[in-house]
Amino acid sequence: MGTKFPKIILLSFFLIPILTLQPTFAPAALITDVRSWSATDHTRVVIDLTEPVQYESTSQENPPQFQLELKGVYFYTPKRELEVKDPFLSTISLTDLGDGRVRIIFQQKKTLNTNVFLLKPYQDKPHRLVIDLIDVSLEKKEIEERQKQKEIRPKGTKIVVIDPGHGGEDPGAIGPKKTMEKDIVLKVGAKLLQLLNRDKEIQAFLTRKGDYFIPLGGRSKMATDYGADLFISLHTDASFNPQARGSSVYCLSLAGATDQAAKILADKENLSNFLGGVTSKPITNGKDKVEPILVDLAQNDTMRESFVFAETVLQDLKAVNLLKYSSYRQANFIVLRAPRIPSVLIEMAYITNKEDERLLKSSDFQEKIAKALAVSIKKYFRP
Ligand SMILES: [Zn+2]
Repeated sequence: MGTKFPKIILLSFFLIPILTLQPTFAPAALITDVRSWSATDHTRVVIDLTEPVQYESTSQENPPQFQLELKGVYFYTPKRELEVKDPFLSTISLTDLGDGRVRIIFQQKKTLNTNVFLLKPYQDKPHRLVIDLIDVSLEKKEIEERQKQKEIRPKGTKIVVIDPGHGGEDPGAIGPKKTMEKDIVLKVGAKLLQLLNRDKEIQAFLTRKGDYFIPLGGRSKMATDYGADLFISLHTDASFNPQARGSSVYCLSLAGATDQAAKILADKENLSNFLGGVTSKPITNGKDKVEPILVDLAQNDTMRESFVFAETVLQDLKAVNLLKYSSYRQANFIVLRAPRIPSVLIEMAYITNKEDERLLKSSDFQEKIAKALAVSIKKYFRP
């Protein structure tokens, strides 16, 4: 997307500092927003900027504190303090030091590892400076706890991993009434979790329990860690055509997509990492590189299992909502790439359609979808 400023304004923006002999380092970037997302093992702080900035960081142990100094930046107020209500941070304070320098202090509640990186503008997102403050020991403990599940589960118990798509910086699709996909899928995911865990032979887990982002590869890695017997990724569809409606079900394709629409949809869902912001270092199991799947016989069996489950879901969804397609479609969804775990992605309805958006927002419809999925899951495990 091109800049909205006419060339002449841009030119004067660069010339004025020179003509008026401003300090040698003329600030160019403006901080337009600061927000934080609290995950189970880290806090992500995101700073919106009109331009990329340079930064230096320092940290101290006692009390634990992380400090960033941004250079070449304006802040619209001399000082601002943000309260973070999570187990990792207490406050984030920003102070304009003048001369195009802004100091940001992150007051920590415990010792944390940090990872700072810049993200380039993407779709409607501006330049972003991302600061991840990670409780590494907690992150490790969570992975170990997931890996323990397959050993401690009672014999015959099936493990289901439910993945509410998007989250945090990535809102997913947005409806005409500003309903966000990330919120709807989290609600349906929680309802489905509750329904499944009432069954003594099923143990269900969520990839994300709140409004934060997990890289796509991290989600399927979680399913692998849990030793899942089934993985379900929940989404809501979107279209430029406001008339488009209905539910659809997708499986992974190791070759091409079954049709152009499925390919476009997979491409769109796969962009989640760019919006959500993927770090260069692992976070919450973040395995971001798409590695080719080894096509072995076991994987073929897994694919067949996914198809069987997808067919069952279509049968049960039909009673709850219009179906966009009467059969499942296939495309290359990164999130469905957990090796040897039957995995299905469900587009519950079109959030961009007025009527579907109204349905998606209603607790009654969310419950109906969750119930239909729970029925499908039980049928799949106990045919
Ligand atoms: Zn989605």
